[in-house]
Amino acid sequence: MAAPHPERGFIVSIPITNTVPAADFQEQDAFALPKAPDDHLIAQSSQAHPTVSTRLTIHALGRTAPLTVHPEELLLPLRMLRTFELTCQLCAARTHRVLDLVLHGTPQAWVCGSCA
Ligand SMILES: [Zn+2]
Repeated sequence: MAAPHPERGFIVSIPITNTVPAADFQEQDAFALPKAPDDHLIAQSSQAHPTVSTRLTIHALGRTAPLTVHPEELLLPLRMLRTFELTCQLCAARTHRVLDLVLHGTPQAWVCGSCA
């Protein structure tokens, strides 16, 4: 019997868009403002603005002043790690995989290493 190889296999994914709404960013995500694409920022927190509920406040590593953005404002994603629970399309094996949405896209289907 072949041993399962959860680290291998085949993932079908949808690539991330070039820009992502500010509301989709989470702690530790790396991003840049479209007007300053070379200035890489790492989100430390993202929360509703204390007084303007239609705005988000994002604290970025190394920045003293937080960014205030509209939740729909489009930012450039650089690194967005997310944990996905994947189920093999063929044998229903399950695994958790940490993927970078920017590098790997959003997984839609997975075939495990034993079935691939
Ligand atoms: Zn499988």
